[in-house]
Amino acid sequence: MKPWDKNIRRVVPYVPGEQPDQPHMLKLNTNENPYPPAPGVAEALYTFDTDRLRLYPDPGAGVLIRAMAKRYQVQEDQVFVGVGSDDVLAMSFLTFFNSDRPIFFPDITYSFYDVWAEEFRIPYERIPLDERFRIRKEDYYRENGGVVFPNPNAPTGELESVDDIEDLLQHNQDVVVIVDEAYIDFGGESVLPLLDKYDNLLVVQTFSKSRSLAGMRIGYAFGSRELIGYLNDVKYSFNSYTMSHLALALGTAAVEDETYFQETLHKITATRERVKKEFAALGFRFGDSQANFLFVTHPNWRAKELFEALKEEHIYVRYFRKPRIDNYLRITIGTDDEMDVLLDFLRDYGKQEKN
Ligand SMILES: *Cc1c(COP(=O)(O)O)cnc(C)c1O
Repeated sequence: MKPWDKNIRRVVPYVPGEQPDQPHMLKLNTNENPYPPAPGVAEALYTFDTDRLRLYPDPGAGVLIRAMAKRYQVQEDQVFVGVGSDDVLAMSFLTFFNSDRPIFFPDITYSFYDVWAEEFRIPYERIPLDERFRIRKEDYYRENGGVVFPNPNAPTGELESVDDIEDLLQHNQDVVVIVDEAYIDFGGESVLPLLDKYDNLLVVQTFSKSRSLAGMRIGYAFGSRELIGYLNDVKYSFNSYTMSHLALALGTAAVEDETYFQETLHKITATRERVKKEFAALGFRFGDSQANFLFVTHPNWRAKELFEALKEEHIYVRYFRKPRIDNYLRITIGTDDEMDVLLDFLRDYGKQEKN
């Protein structure tokens, strides 16, 4: 023990999915998009004037905010952007969750929530999902310090309806409710229209999955003018220049290509629906994921063993050694060709298991 040890803010860190770098790997472990960003993003990169890098970027992220406000039909002062939605969510926890009462989130959910709660010393309660991994909204109708959940949920892929979320909002009007829509573009209906009715609702989304820009780090939130104002106050008191010139330019180019965005989403959802059928034929069990991944279990195969066997072949998927889900794998939807490589492996694996 060093004398200064007692003054350290100790945290048990979030463990991100592996980022392996193998020549012929199949990377289906962190829900990245298998397709490149919109063509306009490459164009913006090639024409980027590096002389601009001498100067600080616009702390208000004006170009990107304007593009987002236009695309999503909200006012500019209802948009906040940050360095990935992880940054946006962390700022939101810091800004909105300051009660002595516990914040609520599901027991099976994005594993960053309890890390931030611990780090910022926010009391929290994990609310168990039902046996089919669905949110029981009534469990959230008690006094709390705020509510946060992803929709669709991660890692389950289960989507809750706008009506159910509105009901949850009706019962939680005296706290901030954060809906993390990291995967909403893959088939879900966003609660964005509810912003007009609920000034305590914050909707968080990201460029990392549906817009193929995980490596650029851009996330955003929509909320009432008041919520976004408070979020900006905290951001400016922390680090004013979060968004680089390059992130602003490339992010703006990505939002402006709606056609490419829709085409990419269509390809991924078509592959997902095909893979669901093939996985069912192989005996897997899974919910009706509306995200760009499937969360699967198999009655005869141990998830941990399959995970290791896949890794031997440089096929990376995600395994969580956690209560209730330690016999499940979360598998990102790649291109059709990538999924065929995985399916071939699984058919062989099934044959070997029988012998
Ligand atoms: C991927 C993910 C995020 C964060 O993504 P960023 O890359 O930081 O934008 C947030 N919430 C959930 C549920 C996610 O799966």
